[in-house]
Amino acid sequence: MQSPVGPIRPPSEARSLLIRVTRNCPWNRCEFCTVFKGQKFELRPLEEVKTDIMAARKAADDVKKWAEQTGYGLGYVARYNGISWLHDDGVTNVFIQDSDSLVMKTEF
Ligand code: SF4
Repeated sequence: MQSPVGPIRPPSEARSLLIRVTRNCPWNRCEFCTVFKGQKFELRPLEEVKTDIMAARKAADDVKKWAEQTGYGLGYVARYNGISWLHDDGVTNVFIQDSDSLVMKTEF
């Protein structure tokens, strides 16, 4: 099974929830970039993406419960458990992976 998380994200997205909706790059011709070389671009099936979103939701709900039980802030408990995308005010940013996923149809 392929990873639900893509191999790369911009540094500015370090604390964003990563949702992989495509695999690889539809352009794949930049001379300096080897990240997706030799790999075919594809859309991930909608059901797989939905499953990933629901898994993130479950993780967020679990962490919220732990935060309430311990009395620590949500963001603190999330970071302590290695979940960098969950903050005191919840999920504030989502980065859609991989490269240029906006080639998808709007309905998707
Ligand atoms: S991932 Fe970005 S930098 Fe790399 S080939 Fe595709 S468009 Fe170019």
